Amino acid sequence: MSFSDNGFFGQFGGKYVAEVLRRPLDELEIAFKEAMADPSFLEELQQIQRDYIGRETPLLHAETASKILGGAQIYIKLEGLANTGAHKINNAIGQCLLAKRMGKKRIIAETGAGQHGVATAAACAKLGLDCTVYMGEVDVRRQQPNVAAMELYGAKVHSVTSGSRTLKDAVNEAMRDWAANPDTTHYVLGSALGPAPFPDIVREFQSVIGKEVKRQAEERHLDVEALIACVGGGSNSIGFFSPFIDEPGPRLIGVEAGGIGPGIGENASRMTGNASRDGILQGYKSRFLIDEDGQALSTRSISAGLDYCGIGPQLAALGKSGRVEFTSALDKEALEAVKFFAKNEGVLFALESAHAGAEAIKLAPTLSPEKAIIVNMSGRGDKDVFITSPVFRPEKWLDFLHAEIERLESDKDIHEAKIME
Ligand SMILES: *Cc1c(COP(=O)(O)O)cnc(C)c1O
Repeated sequence: MSFSDNGFFGQFGGKYVAEVLRRPLDELEIAFKEAMADPSFLEELQQIQRDYIGRETPLLHAETASKILGGAQIYIKLEGLANTGAHKINNAIGQCLLAKRMGKKRIIAETGAGQHGVATAAACAKLGLDCTVYMGEVDVRRQQPNVAAMELYGAKVHSVTSGSRTLKDAVNEAMRDWAANPDTTHYVLGSALGPAPFPDIVREFQSVIGKEVKRQAEERHLDVEALIACVGGGSNSIGFFSPFIDEPGPRLIGVEAGGIGPGIGENASRMTGNASRDGILQGYKSRFLIDEDGQALSTRSISAGLDYCGIGPQLAALGKSGRVEFTSALDKEALEAVKFFAKNEGVLFALESAHAGAEAIKLAPTLSPEKAIIVNMSGRGDKDVFITSPVFRPEKWLDFLHAEIERLESDKDIHEAKIME
């Protein structure tokens, strides 16, 4: 039931692509279905999830946080403890294994902030696949730590110079590459969106989060009132919600980026904002922040992973039916949540995940202490130090950056080490 009906979830989804991409998408769908019915593939997947990704990830009872808020017990699914620091590796490993099974030795991927690029590059390194990541030139410049990581993992980062030189141009370029090289190449799409069968594939590979949570909650006899996840494209949330969608409870709550406010261009609220419309973009029908001509509107969020104009078609349908409730958190609420859980639980949320944390802070006090709410911490916040430090401690951070530049410009050892390579 939670699988698409021929690529559609209610009125959303589909496969709105150029003719040349139909065959690779159809072949992918067949290979995926066969793989998921093959016990040897599932066993191989499970083994690498355990030994490489580090599954299962813990479910932490946030006791101090729950006491301070004085309501429901908050539990945190520590997905940020997965190797590479976030849930994205679940999908990257799954799709790369699938590509290998299909006999494809070359992987391409798109990336915006770089998180999906890093996960794909790492998965390819682990599985011995050739990897090219398409990334807008603007993003390459501002996301150097992730570019450096991708290169360490041996990936080629292809800087895209067309259009706005950001994520959507990287997607277009990756699609073009795939259309030209379908026999040798698999395109690892990074979230539960895009043309069918990607929304089904990504959800299934991320559903490991929800399956573990279901087992963990049952073992501890939790009376779960709600699951809360942040929603960018929707992969961590749909994977987390997946085993519960066809059941009457618990409440499933998706949190979008509220940015700096409700105005157009100030947020990335596709389900809760007032600027969103049904539309078709980049191969699928869903809810988008687009103008009357179907052109993407600009979006804004302090968290790069939530800063996107579209949302996965299954979530759009589940929002429409009411099974998933949507809300949003402002940039400043996410920052507060980062501080709150760091100080009280010793857990550093990624800025994306902190949007879900912010909703837990609002919801917990309205519920009784016998109830549990579970927050998916989709990633850990180490990667955000260049964003959080300038906010939390601007002068000290500026001093540090100045000192680093000075050190790099003056330190002969660094130059010599480079020459010795
Ligand atoms: C990319 C990312 C997200 C947003 O993507 P979804 O597909 O909505 O899950 C959320 N959290 C983290 C840590 C991310 O890296």
